[in-house]
Amino acid sequence: MKLVSTRNNKVSMSASLATLKGIAPGGGLYVPEYFPSLNEIGDLAGVSYEKLAAKVLSLFFDDIADMELLTKKAYANFDHDERAPVKKIGDKEFVMELWHGPTLAFKDMALSVLPRLMRAAMAKDNGKDVLILVATSGDTGKAALEGFCDVPGTRIIVFYPSEGVSDMQRLQMVTQGGGNTNVIGIKGNFDDAQTGVKQIFADSEFAQLIGDKGYRLSSANSINFGRLAPQIAYYIWAYNELVQREEIAQGDKINFVVPTGNFGNILAAYYAKRMGLPIAKLICASNKNNVLTDFFNKGEYSLDRDFHKTMSPSMDILISSNLERLLFELVERDSDKVNDMMSRLGSDSVYTIDGQAKAELEEDFYADWCSEAETMACINETLRDKGYLMDTHTAVAMGVYNKYKTGGDTTKTVIVSTASPYKFPEDVLMSLGVDSAGMSVFEMSDELSRLTGTKVPRQVAELKTKAELHTDVIEKTRLRNAVIGDISK
Ligand SMILES: *Cc1c(COP(=O)(O)O)cnc(C)c1O
Repeated sequence: MKLVSTRNNKVSMSASLATLKGIAPGGGLYVPEYFPSLNEIGDLAGVSYEKLAAKVLSLFFDDIADMELLTKKAYANFDHDERAPVKKIGDKEFVMELWHGPTLAFKDMALSVLPRLMRAAMAKDNGKDVLILVATSGDTGKAALEGFCDVPGTRIIVFYPSEGVSDMQRLQMVTQGGGNTNVIGIKGNFDDAQTGVKQIFADSEFAQLIGDKGYRLSSANSINFGRLAPQIAYYIWAYNELVQREEIAQGDKINFVVPTGNFGNILAAYYAKRMGLPIAKLICASNKNNVLTDFFNKGEYSLDRDFHKTMSPSMDILISSNLERLLFELVERDSDKVNDMMSRLGSDSVYTIDGQAKAELEEDFYADWCSEAETMACINETLRDKGYLMDTHTAVAMGVYNKYKTGGDTTKTVIVSTASPYKFPEDVLMSLGVDSAGMSVFEMSDELSRLTGTKVPRQVAELKTKAELHTDVIEKTRLRNAVIGDISK
């Protein structure tokens, strides 16, 4: 299938090449030319996660042969047979756990697949190796490292703020093995890392320089269509699970609640709906950085607000990049209108949508947010009342759902769980009333396990014995030199 750009609907490119390039010329995002129908993938009774994912991906990446082998390999190192298990926690409530991959967060669902899509695309392109540069605030870096580790024809360098990630996140990254990986700390914050990487991407002389060394640059962040497409599969999976268990009849509508940051995860659910999945409401859950809540409720997207650091850091974001793909649909794929909104966001830090567009959004979406106190209370109460332990991000979703359902909707609902509670043990323990001051992350994990009767995931236990391989920390002005040094080795 061909993809078009949100900022120029005449630009069209195959899905695999678009994945290799990452972003469209002029800053646009690649979107499918049309939404394929789920009818094309046929009966799903008894189909494994890998098979379903392959069917969904093939609708878009129709030029990649043997997609089933690709997804089979991609999910081989997940620690749950079902890959994305759906658990019943109440009469009408289910949780879909998307964190059984190598890094314990939902980013693995797509970043296990993306490098393999790129590799397949490279075979059709100019033959240069792909150099992936990532600036991370924690979760994406490790998931990308795992995904690209030892994938032939690729090299990955991750930059992280040396003082800005959690102990668990730092340990996960600096212990990364593989012959094609590098992890470098920056003396600065996440924005410094991000700015440094963006400058490299914008520098055509630099592209020439690394081109001469046999590389082309690409990106693994969530605006890459190759990250979006694999995420569509698990919404269809969850729906099918409820059908197979006779919780619903084929055709019945269900809700999804998604803890949202960059709007990538929930956008995949919206795409699934457009492809024919019977979804009633998509519930967009935010933390205190509630710019999306305001957008859905007021029709205005405004950056004129403070940035808050919260206990759900992967949702601490003010510019939700993937919202642009929803806007593109909302304005009936008129890229001039998208350009207009995006340039207003750049110049005035705000854009608005009209009343009709807002009413249309209300058909599909509901949005609300949780404070830090509400998030902590939700972790505590859900464990106490339902025996289910959640991480801080999932708790934001659950907290929003608890508020939503007081409105009387009794539709069966799947809450999307995006991280293992063991990825954020300090805040989860605090929510349960335990002060972990002075404990190492391993002691915290053991305490959490003892307290809740849940098992410490092997991904955490394994970290204990791994050597710290990547110890470089550089000045924030030295990213270019670090990249050159890396590929000259
Ligand atoms: C990235 C992330 C999110 C936010 O997902 P988006 O696709 O950016 O909306 C939520 N929870 C966790 C744990 C994450 O890592």
